Amino acid sequence: MIKVTNLCKSFNGIEVLKDISLQLKKGEVVAVIGPSGTGKSTLLRCINYLEVPDKGEIEIGDIKVDVKTAIKKNIYKLRKSTAMVFQNYNLFKNKTAIENIMEPLLVVKKMKRDEAEKIAVRILKQIGLSDKRDVYPSKLSGGQQQRVGIGRALAVNPEIILFDEPTSALDPERVGEVLDVIKSLAQKNMTMIIVTHEMRFAKEAADKIIFMDKGVIVEEGKPDDIFNSPKNPRTIKFLEQII
Ligand code: ATP
Ligand code: MG
Repeated sequence: MIKVTNLCKSFNGIEVLKDISLQLKKGEVVAVIGPSGTGKSTLLRCINYLEVPDKGEIEIGDIKVDVKTAIKKNIYKLRKSTAMVFQNYNLFKNKTAIENIMEPLLVVKKMKRDEAEKIAVRILKQIGLSDKRDVYPSKLSGGQQQRVGIGRALAVNPEIILFDEPTSALDPERVGEVLDVIKSLAQKNMTMIIVTHEMRFAKEAADKIIFMDKGVIVEEGKPDDIFNSPKNPRTIKFLEQII
């Protein structure tokens, strides 16, 4: 289970996250939607402590971190139990596809090379890139690079994967292959929070939609309810603008 309670974050005195609380069951997929500058990326970055929150509690599995009293050991455990997939892939350019996937296993999990390689080979198969194992990112399409990004996230066997607009840097014809990989993870019961502006995907793949605006969760619910009968005027306005 993932539980975020009363999470707050300000930058230079401006509140970007105002008392955010949310909860995911194991295997649940949540899509976060909302206007630009609303705090969606900051929320993901705070959940895995890429950004240090000001206040609140984060609970992932049996690790519980109260931001005010957190000890380093627990923050480290929290970070290890999450993985993030970025808009711009963030791959190591001087490493091949398989080396990119092995990297967290060698560095974070301190695995032996042959052991890490075995896992990476299995993951390459899972993301449909076995034939690209020794290829460098510059020779991969955007969609393939992002699938390696997802493979790298999968490698550490995280409790949750956080996706920050995983398809927004892609050519339209490359979006589908990445969404398919994410959908296949949903079928395998991976717990995921996905910030996305792909509304069709959110509708199809997510168990729950969270609509955020100006640092707060304005409305949340099942995809059918949010997309077909949104209740909050801000949600209605946002959906009208984008559909
Ligand atoms: P988008 O849809 O454009 O990606 P977002 O909802 O992800 O937007 P965030 O990136 O979380 O929004 O940003 C929320 C607000 O916090 C913005 O006003 C942004 O300028 C500010 N912000 C984010 N990161 C920082 C930072 N490191 N330092 C200062 N301000 C920041
Ligand atoms: Mg963002």
